[in-house]
Amino acid sequence: MNLRYSHLLRDMSDLDDALDNGELNDTNNETSNAMANNNPSDDSAMNASRNTLANVISCLSDYDPDALPVADAQAIIRQFIQPINAVEKIALRSALDRVLAVDIVSPINVPSHDNSAMDGYALHGSDLSKEQDVKLKVIGTAYAGRAYDGAVNKGECVRIMTGAVMPAQCDTVIPQEFVRDASDTGMTIPAGAVKTGDNRRLKGEDLKAGTAALQKGKILRPADLGLLASLGIGEIPVQRRLRVAFFSTGDELRSIGETLDEGCVYDSNRYTLYGMLTRLGCDVVDMGVIKDDPDVLEAAFRTACENADAIITSGGVSVGEADYTKQMMAQLGDVGFWKIGMRPGRPMAFGKIASNGKEAYLFGLPGNPVAVMVTFYFLARQALLHMMGASTVEAPPLMRVVSQAAIRKRPGRTEYQRGILSRNSDGIQEVRITGSQGSGVLRSMSEANCMVVLEHDRAEIKAGDLVDVILFDGLT
Ligand code: AMP
Ligand code: MG
Repeated sequence: MNLRYSHLLRDMSDLDDALDNGELNDTNNETSNAMANNNPSDDSAMNASRNTLANVISCLSDYDPDALPVADAQAIIRQFIQPINAVEKIALRSALDRVLAVDIVSPINVPSHDNSAMDGYALHGSDLSKEQDVKLKVIGTAYAGRAYDGAVNKGECVRIMTGAVMPAQCDTVIPQEFVRDASDTGMTIPAGAVKTGDNRRLKGEDLKAGTAALQKGKILRPADLGLLASLGIGEIPVQRRLRVAFFSTGDELRSIGETLDEGCVYDSNRYTLYGMLTRLGCDVVDMGVIKDDPDVLEAAFRTACENADAIITSGGVSVGEADYTKQMMAQLGDVGFWKIGMRPGRPMAFGKIASNGKEAYLFGLPGNPVAVMVTFYFLARQALLHMMGASTVEAPPLMRVVSQAAIRKRPGRTEYQRGILSRNSDGIQEVRITGSQGSGVLRSMSEANCMVVLEHDRAEIKAGDLVDVILFDGLT
Protein backbone atom coordinates (compact mmCIF):
# COMPACT_ATOMS: atom_id res chain seq x y z
CA MET A 1 0.00 0.00 0.00
CA ASN A 2 1.12 3.48 -0.84
CA LEU A 3 2.55 4.97 2.34
CA ARG A 4 0.97 8.25 1.50
CA TYR A 5 -2.39 6.75 2.47
CA SER A 6 -1.21 4.85 5.46
CA HIS A 7 -3.36 7.19 7.55
CA LEU A 8 -6.19 5.02 6.37
CA LEU A 9 -4.95 2.32 8.65
CA ARG A 10 -5.75 4.19 11.78
CA ASP A 11 -8.68 4.37 14.01
CA MET A 12 -11.15 6.88 12.59
CA SER A 13 -10.97 9.35 15.44
CA ASP A 14 -7.18 9.48 15.24
CA LEU A 15 -7.55 9.88 11.55
CA ASP A 16 -9.81 12.89 11.82
CA ASP A 17 -7.42 14.52 14.24
CA ALA A 18 -4.58 13.79 11.88
CA LEU A 19 -6.45 15.28 8.99
CA ASP A 20 -7.35 18.33 10.96
CA ASN A 21 -3.76 18.74 12.07
CA GLY A 22 -2.40 18.24 8.59
CA GLU A 23 -0.46 15.11 9.53
CA LEU A 24 -1.54 13.19 6.50
CA ASN A 25 1.79 11.69 5.66
CA ASP A 26 2.43 10.00 8.98
CA THR A 27 2.96 6.29 8.67
CA ASN A 28 1.36 3.74 10.91
CA ASN A 29 0.88 0.19 9.81
CA GLU A 30 -0.10 -1.34 13.10
CA THR A 31 -3.75 -1.80 12.44
CA SER A 32 -3.65 -2.79 8.81
CA ASN A 33 -6.06 -5.65 9.39
CA ALA A 34 -8.71 -3.17 10.32
CA MET A 35 -8.90 -2.15 6.71
CA ALA A 36 -9.32 -5.65 5.35
CA ASN A 37 -12.91 -5.40 4.32
CA ASN A 38 -12.86 -8.10 1.73
CA ASN A 39 -14.63 -10.80 3.61
CA PRO A 40 -14.39 -14.04 1.60
CA SER A 41 -18.15 -14.52 1.88
CA ASP A 42 -18.82 -11.24 0.07
CA ASP A 43 -20.23 -11.95 -3.34
CA SER A 44 -20.74 -8.34 -4.28
CA ALA A 45 -17.74 -8.04 -6.55
CA MET A 46 -18.66 -11.19 -8.43
CA ASN A 47 -22.29 -10.20 -8.92
CA ALA A 48 -21.40 -6.67 -9.80
CA SER A 49 -18.96 -7.69 -12.46
CA ARG A 50 -21.79 -9.24 -14.49
CA ASN A 51 -23.46 -5.89 -14.58
CA THR A 52 -22.08 -3.14 -16.77
CA LEU A 53 -23.43 0.38 -16.91
CA ALA A 54 -23.95 -0.04 -20.65
CA ASN A 55 -26.12 -3.13 -19.98
CA VAL A 56 -28.21 -1.32 -17.44
CA ILE A 57 -28.56 1.79 -19.55
CA SER A 58 -29.60 -0.21 -22.62
CA CYS A 59 -32.84 -1.06 -20.79
CA LEU A 60 -33.73 2.61 -20.59
CA SER A 61 -35.60 4.28 -23.44
CA ASP A 62 -34.15 7.61 -24.60
CA TYR A 63 -31.14 7.66 -22.29
CA ASP A 64 -29.42 11.01 -22.45
CA PRO A 65 -26.50 11.46 -20.04
CA ASP A 66 -26.74 15.22 -20.59
CA ALA A 67 -30.38 15.45 -19.51
CA LEU A 68 -31.07 12.56 -17.19
CA PRO A 69 -34.23 12.81 -15.08
CA VAL A 70 -33.71 12.02 -11.38
CA ALA A 71 -36.00 9.00 -11.62
CA ASP A 72 -33.88 7.53 -14.44
CA ALA A 73 -30.63 8.15 -12.57
CA GLN A 74 -32.14 6.45 -9.50
CA ALA A 75 -33.28 3.52 -11.63
CA ILE A 76 -29.86 3.04 -13.25
CA ILE A 77 -28.12 3.19 -9.89
CA ARG A 78 -30.64 0.76 -8.40
CA GLN A 79 -30.13 -1.72 -11.25
CA PHE A 80 -26.37 -1.50 -11.19
CA ILE A 81 -25.75 -1.83 -7.47
CA GLN A 82 -25.60 -5.25 -5.83
CA PRO A 83 -26.00 -5.85 -2.09
CA ILE A 84 -22.83 -6.92 -0.29
CA ASN A 85 -24.38 -9.92 1.49
CA ALA A 86 -21.92 -10.49 4.30
CA VAL A 87 -23.33 -11.42 7.66
CA GLU A 88 -22.03 -11.12 11.20
CA LYS A 89 -23.66 -12.12 14.46
CA ILE A 90 -23.71 -9.43 17.12
CA ALA A 91 -25.17 -8.75 20.55
CA LEU A 92 -28.70 -7.35 20.64
CA ARG A 93 -27.76 -3.85 21.78
CA SER A 94 -25.11 -3.50 19.08
CA ALA A 95 -27.75 -4.36 16.50
CA LEU A 96 -29.45 -0.96 16.78
CA ASP A 97 -29.69 0.66 13.31
CA ARG A 98 -28.13 -2.39 11.67
CA VAL A 99 -29.72 -4.35 8.83
CA LEU A 100 -31.27 -7.64 9.90
CA ALA A 101 -29.76 -10.46 7.81
CA VAL A 102 -32.35 -13.20 8.41
CA ASP A 103 -36.08 -13.54 8.97
CA ILE A 104 -36.77 -13.86 12.68
CA VAL A 105 -39.42 -16.41 13.58
CA SER A 106 -40.78 -16.22 17.08
CA PRO A 107 -39.62 -19.21 19.15
CA ILE A 108 -42.25 -18.55 21.83
CA ASN A 109 -45.69 -17.12 22.39
CA VAL A 110 -45.61 -13.52 23.55
CA PRO A 111 -47.09 -13.24 26.09
CA SER A 112 -46.63 -16.85 27.11
CA HIS A 113 -49.86 -16.91 29.21
CA ASP A 114 -53.15 -15.11 29.34
CA ASN A 115 -52.55 -12.30 31.80
CA SER A 116 -54.14 -9.23 33.30
CA ALA A 117 -53.88 -5.84 31.59
CA MET A 118 -54.89 -3.99 34.77
CA ASP A 119 -54.62 -4.02 38.53
CA GLY A 120 -58.03 -5.30 39.64
CA TYR A 121 -59.94 -8.54 40.16
CA ALA A 122 -59.97 -11.66 37.95
CA LEU A 123 -63.38 -13.27 37.70
CA HIS A 124 -65.81 -15.44 35.75
CA GLY A 125 -67.45 -13.41 32.98
CA SER A 126 -70.56 -15.47 33.52
CA ASP A 127 -70.95 -13.86 36.97
CA LEU A 128 -71.37 -10.38 35.43
CA SER A 129 -74.75 -8.76 35.09
CA LYS A 130 -75.88 -5.75 33.05
CA GLU A 131 -78.94 -5.21 35.21
CA GLN A 132 -77.77 -5.52 38.78
CA ASP A 133 -74.73 -5.13 41.01
CA VAL A 134 -72.85 -8.34 41.76
CA LYS A 135 -71.07 -9.17 45.01
CA LEU A 136 -68.04 -11.50 44.74
CA LYS A 137 -65.90 -13.16 47.39
CA VAL A 138 -62.14 -12.38 47.20
CA ILE A 139 -60.22 -15.63 47.77
CA GLY A 140 -56.60 -14.71 47.08
CA THR A 141 -54.11 -12.61 45.11
CA ALA A 142 -52.24 -13.16 41.80
CA TYR A 143 -49.01 -11.16 41.41
CA ALA A 144 -46.94 -10.62 38.27
CA GLY A 145 -44.48 -13.52 38.37
CA ARG A 146 -46.42 -15.29 41.14
CA ALA A 147 -49.64 -16.89 39.95
CA TYR A 148 -52.68 -17.84 42.03
CA ASP A 149 -52.78 -21.61 41.72
CA GLY A 150 -56.02 -22.43 43.47
CA ALA A 151 -59.40 -23.01 41.86
CA VAL A 152 -61.72 -20.01 41.48
CA ASN A 153 -65.37 -20.97 41.65
CA LYS A 154 -68.31 -18.98 40.40
CA GLY A 155 -69.14 -16.21 42.83
CA GLU A 156 -65.45 -15.88 43.68
CA CYS A 157 -62.68 -13.66 42.38
CA VAL A 158 -58.93 -13.11 42.81
CA ARG A 159 -57.18 -9.82 43.37
CA ILE A 160 -54.81 -9.53 40.37
CA MET A 161 -51.93 -7.26 39.38
CA THR A 162 -51.04 -6.11 35.87
CA GLY A 163 -49.08 -8.85 34.07
CA ALA A 164 -50.09 -11.59 36.51
CA VAL A 165 -51.15 -14.90 34.93
CA MET A 166 -54.94 -15.25 34.78
CA PRO A 167 -56.21 -17.92 37.20
CA ALA A 168 -57.29 -20.96 35.16
CA GLN A 169 -61.06 -20.48 35.28
CA CYS A 170 -61.12 -16.68 35.01
CA ASP A 171 -61.60 -14.83 31.72
CA THR A 172 -62.24 -11.23 32.77
CA VAL A 173 -60.59 -8.52 34.86
CA ILE A 174 -62.36 -5.60 36.45
CA PRO A 175 -60.04 -2.67 37.18
CA GLN A 176 -59.84 -1.86 40.89
CA GLU A 177 -61.16 1.68 40.32
CA PHE A 178 -64.46 0.23 39.02
CA VAL A 179 -65.41 -1.81 42.09
CA ARG A 180 -67.24 -0.73 45.26
CA ASP A 181 -66.95 -1.74 48.89
CA ALA A 182 -63.63 -3.53 48.36
CA SER A 183 -62.17 -5.37 51.35
CA ASP A 184 -59.81 -8.30 51.80
CA THR A 185 -62.73 -10.68 51.58
CA GLY A 186 -65.09 -9.21 49.05
CA MET A 187 -66.14 -6.43 46.63
CA THR A 188 -69.13 -5.29 44.58
CA ILE A 189 -69.22 -4.85 40.79
CA PRO A 190 -71.64 -2.14 39.63
CA ALA A 191 -74.10 -3.30 36.96
CA GLY A 192 -72.60 -3.29 33.44
CA ALA A 193 -69.14 -2.10 34.63
CA VAL A 194 -67.22 -4.56 32.38
CA LYS A 195 -67.92 -7.23 29.74
CA THR A 196 -66.66 -10.80 29.57
CA GLY A 197 -63.05 -10.88 28.30
CA ASP A 198 -62.26 -7.27 29.22
CA ASN A 199 -58.77 -6.32 30.44
CA ARG A 200 -57.30 -9.72 29.69
CA ARG A 201 -54.24 -10.08 27.42
CA LEU A 202 -54.28 -13.32 25.50
CA LYS A 203 -51.42 -15.77 25.19
CA GLY A 204 -49.60 -15.14 21.86
CA GLU A 205 -51.52 -11.89 21.33
CA ASP A 206 -48.31 -9.98 20.55
CA LEU A 207 -46.64 -12.85 18.66
CA LYS A 208 -47.53 -16.51 18.23
CA ALA A 209 -44.76 -19.11 18.37
CA GLY A 210 -43.67 -19.96 14.80
CA THR A 211 -44.90 -16.76 13.18
CA ALA A 212 -42.70 -14.14 11.50
CA ALA A 213 -41.56 -11.51 13.97
CA LEU A 214 -39.17 -9.44 11.85
CA GLN A 215 -38.19 -9.60 8.22
CA LYS A 216 -34.73 -9.79 6.75
CA GLY A 217 -33.61 -6.39 5.50
CA LYS A 218 -35.28 -4.44 8.27
CA ILE A 219 -33.22 -1.68 9.82
CA LEU A 220 -33.47 -2.40 13.52
CA ARG A 221 -35.02 0.40 15.54
CA PRO A 222 -35.50 0.64 19.31
CA ALA A 223 -38.87 -1.15 19.11
CA ASP A 224 -37.23 -4.03 17.24
CA LEU A 225 -34.55 -4.42 19.92
CA GLY A 226 -37.35 -4.63 22.47
CA LEU A 227 -39.27 -7.11 20.35
CA LEU A 228 -36.21 -9.33 19.94
CA ALA A 229 -35.57 -9.12 23.67
CA SER A 230 -39.18 -10.16 24.31
CA LEU A 231 -38.43 -13.31 22.31
CA GLY A 232 -35.34 -14.01 24.39
CA ILE A 233 -33.03 -13.51 21.41
CA GLY A 234 -29.69 -12.07 22.51
CA GLU A 235 -27.58 -12.41 19.36
CA ILE A 236 -28.66 -11.17 15.97
CA PRO A 237 -27.31 -11.89 12.47
CA VAL A 238 -26.91 -8.54 10.72
CA GLN A 239 -25.31 -7.43 7.48
CA ARG A 240 -21.81 -6.21 8.02
CA ARG A 241 -21.40 -2.47 7.96
CA LEU A 242 -20.73 -0.86 4.64
CA ARG A 243 -17.32 0.72 4.37
CA VAL A 244 -17.39 4.01 2.52
CA ALA A 245 -14.28 6.02 1.66
CA PHE A 246 -14.59 9.65 0.73
CA PHE A 247 -12.40 12.54 -0.26
CA SER A 248 -12.70 16.06 -1.57
CA THR A 249 -11.07 17.32 -4.72
CA GLY A 250 -10.23 20.91 -5.58
CA ASP A 251 -7.05 22.91 -5.26
CA GLU A 252 -8.96 25.69 -3.51
CA LEU A 253 -9.86 23.48 -0.56
CA ARG A 254 -8.19 23.73 2.81
CA SER A 255 -8.63 21.45 5.79
CA ILE A 256 -9.47 22.80 9.23
CA GLY A 257 -6.27 23.97 10.88
CA GLU A 258 -4.68 25.06 7.61
CA THR A 259 -4.30 28.71 6.65
CA LEU A 260 -7.09 29.96 4.44
CA ASP A 261 -5.11 31.44 1.55
CA GLU A 262 -6.60 34.01 -0.82
CA GLY A 263 -9.44 32.44 -2.85
CA CYS A 264 -9.54 29.28 -0.76
CA VAL A 265 -12.41 27.73 1.23
CA TYR A 266 -12.48 25.29 4.08
CA ASP A 267 -13.54 21.83 3.01
CA SER A 268 -16.98 21.32 4.49
CA ASN A 269 -18.15 18.42 2.33
CA ARG A 270 -16.12 15.85 4.22
CA TYR A 271 -17.96 16.82 7.36
CA THR A 272 -21.47 16.71 5.92
CA LEU A 273 -20.57 13.40 4.27
CA TYR A 274 -19.18 12.09 7.54
CA GLY A 275 -22.45 13.03 9.23
CA MET A 276 -24.74 11.59 6.60
CA LEU A 277 -22.79 8.35 6.24
CA THR A 278 -22.53 7.86 9.98
CA ARG A 279 -26.28 8.41 10.34
CA LEU A 280 -26.77 5.76 7.69
CA GLY A 281 -24.68 3.33 9.73
CA CYS A 282 -21.63 3.15 7.46
CA ASP A 283 -18.02 2.79 8.53
CA VAL A 284 -16.35 5.85 7.12
CA VAL A 285 -12.85 6.32 5.81
CA ASP A 286 -12.07 10.03 5.51
CA MET A 287 -9.23 10.43 3.02
CA GLY A 288 -8.95 14.18 3.25
CA VAL A 289 -8.50 16.69 0.45
CA ILE A 290 -6.83 15.22 -2.61
CA LYS A 291 -4.82 17.63 -4.73
CA ASP A 292 -5.40 17.99 -8.41
CA ASP A 293 -2.39 15.94 -9.41
CA PRO A 294 -2.87 12.84 -11.57
CA ASP A 295 -0.53 10.60 -9.56
CA VAL A 296 -1.99 11.63 -6.24
CA LEU A 297 -5.53 11.26 -7.52
CA GLU A 298 -4.87 7.85 -9.00
CA ALA A 299 -3.31 6.64 -5.77
CA ALA A 300 -6.30 7.96 -3.82
CA PHE A 301 -8.84 6.26 -6.05
CA ARG A 302 -6.91 3.00 -5.94
CA THR A 303 -6.50 3.04 -2.17
CA ALA A 304 -10.17 3.86 -1.70
CA CYS A 305 -11.19 1.15 -4.13
CA GLU A 306 -9.05 -1.50 -2.48
CA ASN A 307 -10.30 -0.68 0.99
CA ALA A 308 -13.95 0.24 0.71
CA ASP A 309 -17.23 -0.94 -0.75
CA ALA A 310 -18.09 2.48 -2.09
CA ILE A 311 -16.25 5.72 -2.76
CA ILE A 312 -17.77 9.16 -2.57
CA THR A 313 -15.89 12.11 -3.95
CA SER A 314 -16.99 15.70 -4.11
CA GLY A 315 -16.00 18.25 -6.71
CA GLY A 316 -14.36 17.97 -10.06
CA VAL A 317 -17.24 16.51 -12.04
CA SER A 318 -18.59 19.73 -13.56
CA VAL A 319 -18.36 20.39 -17.26
CA GLY A 320 -15.17 22.22 -18.02
CA GLU A 321 -13.47 21.20 -14.78
CA ALA A 322 -9.80 21.79 -15.43
CA ASP A 323 -8.70 18.89 -13.32
CA TYR A 324 -7.93 15.21 -13.52
CA THR A 325 -10.73 13.82 -11.39
CA LYS A 326 -13.04 12.85 -14.26
CA GLN A 327 -10.16 11.55 -16.31
CA MET A 328 -9.03 9.31 -13.46
CA MET A 329 -12.54 8.02 -12.80
CA ALA A 330 -12.95 7.08 -16.45
CA GLN A 331 -9.50 5.51 -16.59
CA LEU A 332 -10.05 3.27 -13.56
CA GLY A 333 -13.51 1.98 -14.27
CA ASP A 334 -16.96 1.81 -15.74
CA VAL A 335 -18.18 5.31 -14.98
CA GLY A 336 -20.95 7.45 -16.46
CA PHE A 337 -20.81 11.23 -16.35
CA TRP A 338 -24.25 12.69 -16.08
CA LYS A 339 -26.02 15.98 -16.12
CA ILE A 340 -29.03 15.22 -14.01
CA GLY A 341 -32.30 17.10 -14.34
CA MET A 342 -32.16 18.35 -10.79
CA ARG A 343 -31.32 21.45 -8.85
CA PRO A 344 -29.04 21.63 -7.05
CA GLY A 345 -26.73 18.82 -8.08
CA ARG A 346 -26.67 18.70 -11.85
CA PRO A 347 -23.28 17.10 -12.59
CA MET A 348 -22.53 13.69 -11.17
CA ALA A 349 -20.39 10.67 -11.96
CA PHE A 350 -21.56 7.17 -11.14
CA GLY A 351 -20.15 3.74 -11.73
CA LYS A 352 -17.65 1.26 -10.46
CA ILE A 353 -13.90 1.38 -10.44
CA ALA A 354 -11.37 -1.41 -10.04
CA SER A 355 -7.87 -1.67 -8.69
CA ASN A 356 -5.77 -4.79 -8.09
CA GLY A 357 -8.73 -7.10 -8.41
CA LYS A 358 -10.93 -5.14 -6.00
CA GLU A 359 -13.98 -3.18 -7.03
CA ALA A 360 -15.91 -0.33 -5.45
CA TYR A 361 -18.93 1.67 -6.49
CA LEU A 362 -18.21 5.29 -7.17
CA PHE A 363 -20.37 8.32 -6.55
CA GLY A 364 -18.68 11.42 -7.92
CA LEU A 365 -20.81 14.14 -6.39
CA PRO A 366 -20.62 17.80 -7.37
CA GLY A 367 -18.58 20.14 -5.19
CA ASN A 368 -21.13 22.66 -4.02
CA PRO A 369 -21.95 21.96 -0.38
CA VAL A 370 -25.75 21.86 -0.77
CA ALA A 371 -25.47 19.87 -4.01
CA VAL A 372 -23.39 17.27 -2.17
CA MET A 373 -26.10 16.82 0.43
CA VAL A 374 -28.95 16.72 -2.07
CA THR A 375 -27.25 14.23 -4.40
CA PHE A 376 -26.29 12.14 -1.40
CA TYR A 377 -29.82 12.09 -0.01
CA PHE A 378 -31.63 11.49 -3.28
CA LEU A 379 -29.16 9.38 -5.28
CA ALA A 380 -26.41 7.89 -3.13
CA ARG A 381 -28.41 7.16 0.02
CA GLN A 382 -30.80 4.72 -1.61
CA ALA A 383 -27.93 2.99 -3.36
CA LEU A 384 -25.99 2.57 -0.13
CA LEU A 385 -29.06 1.20 1.65
CA HIS A 386 -29.49 -1.29 -1.18
CA MET A 387 -25.83 -2.31 -0.85
CA MET A 388 -26.41 -2.83 2.87
CA GLY A 389 -29.23 -5.22 2.08
CA ALA A 390 -31.85 -2.94 3.61
CA SER A 391 -35.41 -3.47 2.47
CA THR A 392 -36.33 0.18 3.01
CA VAL A 393 -34.39 1.59 0.10
CA GLU A 394 -37.06 3.98 -1.01
CA ALA A 395 -36.81 7.65 -0.17
CA PRO A 396 -38.47 8.54 3.14
CA PRO A 397 -42.20 9.26 2.85
CA LEU A 398 -43.27 12.53 1.32
CA MET A 399 -45.85 14.71 3.04
CA ARG A 400 -48.05 17.07 1.08
CA VAL A 401 -48.30 20.43 2.74
CA VAL A 402 -49.31 23.96 1.84
CA SER A 403 -46.68 26.27 0.43
CA GLN A 404 -46.78 29.52 2.35
CA ALA A 405 -45.54 31.57 -0.61
CA ALA A 406 -45.02 31.30 -4.35
CA ILE A 407 -41.94 29.32 -5.45
CA ARG A 408 -40.27 29.78 -8.81
CA LYS A 409 -39.92 26.47 -10.63
CA ARG A 410 -39.17 25.42 -14.18
CA PRO A 411 -40.55 22.17 -15.58
CA GLY A 412 -37.96 19.64 -16.72
CA ARG A 413 -35.97 19.23 -13.52
CA THR A 414 -36.61 18.14 -9.97
CA GLU A 415 -35.87 20.90 -7.51
CA TYR A 416 -34.92 20.33 -3.91
CA GLN A 417 -35.49 23.45 -1.88
CA ARG A 418 -34.70 23.83 1.77
CA GLY A 419 -37.81 24.40 3.81
CA ILE A 420 -39.12 25.08 7.28
CA LEU A 421 -42.29 23.20 8.07
CA SER A 422 -44.50 24.63 10.76
CA ARG A 423 -48.14 24.89 11.78
CA ASN A 424 -49.98 28.09 10.96
CA SER A 425 -52.53 29.78 13.25
CA ASP A 426 -55.32 27.59 11.78
CA GLY A 427 -53.38 24.46 12.75
CA ILE A 428 -52.50 23.67 9.12
CA GLN A 429 -48.99 22.44 8.26
CA GLU A 430 -47.29 24.81 5.89
CA VAL A 431 -43.81 25.15 4.52
CA ARG A 432 -41.71 28.15 3.69
CA ILE A 433 -38.40 28.20 1.91
CA THR A 434 -35.28 29.14 3.89
CA GLY A 435 -33.37 32.21 2.64
CA SER A 436 -31.04 32.01 -0.34
CA GLN A 437 -31.33 28.70 -2.16
CA GLY A 438 -27.90 28.94 -3.80
CA SER A 439 -26.25 25.52 -4.06
CA GLY A 440 -23.28 26.79 -2.09
CA VAL A 441 -25.33 28.20 0.78
CA LEU A 442 -25.02 25.57 3.46
CA ARG A 443 -26.78 27.77 5.97
CA SER A 444 -30.04 27.23 4.08
CA MET A 445 -29.64 23.53 4.77
CA SER A 446 -28.71 24.04 8.39
CA GLU A 447 -31.77 26.23 9.04
CA ALA A 448 -34.16 23.90 7.26
CA ASN A 449 -36.11 21.10 8.92
CA CYS A 450 -37.22 19.56 5.63
CA MET A 451 -36.55 19.34 1.93
CA VAL A 452 -39.25 20.60 -0.41
CA VAL A 453 -39.32 18.30 -3.44
CA LEU A 454 -40.72 19.97 -6.55
CA GLU A 455 -41.37 17.32 -9.16
CA HIS A 456 -39.78 17.14 -12.59
CA ASP A 457 -42.81 18.29 -14.59
CA ARG A 458 -44.03 20.91 -12.19
CA ALA A 459 -44.07 24.62 -13.10
CA GLU A 460 -44.44 27.72 -10.90
CA ILE A 461 -45.91 27.15 -7.44
CA LYS A 462 -48.45 29.65 -6.15
CA ALA A 463 -48.98 30.55 -2.51
CA GLY A 464 -51.39 28.01 -1.05
CA ASP A 465 -50.49 25.21 -3.53
CA LEU A 466 -49.64 21.82 -2.10
CA VAL A 467 -46.01 20.69 -2.28
CA ASP A 468 -44.14 17.55 -1.19
CA VAL A 469 -41.74 17.71 1.74
CA ILE A 470 -39.43 15.20 3.39
CA LEU A 471 -38.63 15.80 7.03
CA PHE A 472 -34.99 15.64 8.08
CA ASP A 473 -35.72 14.19 11.51
CA GLY A 474 -38.21 11.66 12.75
CA LEU A 475 -39.08 10.14 16.07
CA THR A 476 -36.58 7.29 16.10
P1 AMP B 1 -16.86 21.92 -8.36
O1 AMP B 1 -17.98 20.95 -8.40
O2 AMP B 1 -15.55 21.28 -8.13
O3 AMP B 1 -16.88 22.78 -9.59
O4 AMP B 1 -17.11 22.89 -7.14
C1 AMP B 1 -18.20 23.75 -7.11
C2 AMP B 1 -18.10 24.72 -5.95
O5 AMP B 1 -18.10 24.01 -4.73
C3 AMP B 1 -16.83 25.55 -5.92
O6 AMP B 1 -17.18 26.85 -5.47
C4 AMP B 1 -15.98 24.86 -4.90
O7 AMP B 1 -15.05 25.73 -4.29
C5 AMP B 1 -16.98 24.37 -3.92
N1 AMP B 1 -16.48 23.17 -3.26
C6 AMP B 1 -16.00 22.07 -3.87
N2 AMP B 1 -15.63 21.16 -2.97
C7 AMP B 1 -15.90 21.69 -1.75
C8 AMP B 1 -15.72 21.23 -0.43
N3 AMP B 1 -15.21 20.01 -0.20
N4 AMP B 1 -16.09 22.01 0.60
C9 AMP B 1 -16.62 23.24 0.35
N5 AMP B 1 -16.80 23.73 -0.89
C10 AMP B 1 -16.44 22.98 -1.93
MG1 MG C 1 -13.56 22.03 -8.49
